[in-house]
Amino acid sequence: MRKQILIVGAGFSGMWSALSAARLAEGNADIDITVIAPQPELRVRPRFYESAVRSLVAPLQPLFDVTGVNFLRGTVSQIDAAARRVSWRDESGTVQQQRYDRLILASGSHVNRSQVAGVAEHAFDLDQLESAEVLEQHLNGLAQRPDSPTRNTVVVCGGGFTGIEMATELPARLREILGTQAKTRVVVIERGPQPAARFSEELRNVIIEASTELGVEWKVNAEVEQVTAEGVTLKDGQTIAAQTVIWTVGVQANDLTAQIDAPRDRQGRLHVNAQLQVIGHEEIYATGDVAYAATDDSGNHALMTCQHAIQLGKFAGNNAAASLLDIAPLPYRQENYVTCLDLGAWGAVYSEGWDQQVKLTRAEAKKLKVSIVSELIYPPAADKATAFRIADPLAPFV
Ligand SMILES: Cc1cc2nc3c(=O)[nH]c(=O)nc-3n(C[C@H](O)[C@H](O)[C@H](O)COP(=O)(O)OP(=O)(O)OC[C@H]3O[C@@H](n4cnc5c(N)ncnc54)[C@H](O)[C@@H]3O)c2cc1C
Repeated sequence: MRKQILIVGAGFSGMWSALSAARLAEGNADIDITVIAPQPELRVRPRFYESAVRSLVAPLQPLFDVTGVNFLRGTVSQIDAAARRVSWRDESGTVQQQRYDRLILASGSHVNRSQVAGVAEHAFDLDQLESAEVLEQHLNGLAQRPDSPTRNTVVVCGGGFTGIEMATELPARLREILGTQAKTRVVVIERGPQPAARFSEELRNVIIEASTELGVEWKVNAEVEQVTAEGVTLKDGQTIAAQTVIWTVGVQANDLTAQIDAPRDRQGRLHVNAQLQVIGHEEIYATGDVAYAATDDSGNHALMTCQHAIQLGKFAGNNAAASLLDIAPLPYRQENYVTCLDLGAWGAVYSEGWDQQVKLTRAEAKKLKVSIVSELIYPPAADKATAFRIADPLAPFV
């Protein structure tokens, strides 16, 4: 019987898993590579703090066509690891079954909106295309509301990378929407004792400088108790009246991870070995935001980032195909870690290493950021030779 490598998800990791598996299995007529996802498109999540969110997608069907990857449009609802089978719902709502010899779980992550009262009902987020679109429409619609301090105030809950990129983008965005006369206010709520508390001192200082220059306020040692239609109440009883509250805290691995009987980390990511096989399930690989994977021998682990999702995908696809072809797998390694953080009209900041040494700031870093998020992380051209060259896990990260 033909062998089936089944990939759940067409994000950064799913796309590269498929291309990498197709590359290694090229010329082998007995292996099928199939991706199941709701859309044959890459949704460029790292850009969801920008405007024109609907345009931040790239088509994948032409790429899958030229590389021989099958695509099934639908959503996986159940994984039966014992039977090596998934149940999935197609576009018409019909539940279908798909067997596999190797499963690559690449179903990503989502922000947890259920941790704090009122978030689900009253807060916006920029986690998925649909929710980021709702936020964009809301921001644009503020111009139609009467001018008031609450209309002009945006509270961003969470001072991690997503919260910072959103908050520093907002002053210019609000000026564009509300005009330069409106007295706008952007407040970041941070649990830590200082702004950008979880980053290196060097990186933190740049973020503080940019925030100060842009007029973005930070409320530190602060935790959200409740979000209401009127704004935010903090645990110490303070309130901030705002018609816009954006939630960025608590990202969790996709729920399908819970269906596999294997150890998971606090974010729900499946523990994997160096080949990216889920512990105790050698026929299942986890990659991208659903994988808890060591990047080196120094104790570092992949983060929920594109730079990790892309490389993890290439190794997962390669190793799943290698296991069917009797080829030695490649242990996943990703020793370099960089960050490039957009800081709105101020520019950006680029750092290298797990200790986040700042290498570029302002316009220079912004140029790099733009090239990363609008070129580097996009799918390759729908050309088999190019796609397979880049899909090689050992090829330079381009
Ligand atoms: C606002 C924001 C800003 C970010 N900024 C950065 C940044 O600056 N730099 C950076 O490196 N990273 C950034 N990230 C993180 C980055 O986007 C993720 O780490 C990356 O998208 C993970 O890739 P993935 O392939 O694991 O998952 P995703 O890209 O989320 O893809 C998951 C795929 O699985 C599919 N799927 C989900 N459930 C199912 C199901 N049940 N059945 C079938 N398919 C399913 C989805 O439709 C999608 O196709 C940011 C994320 C956000 C939200």
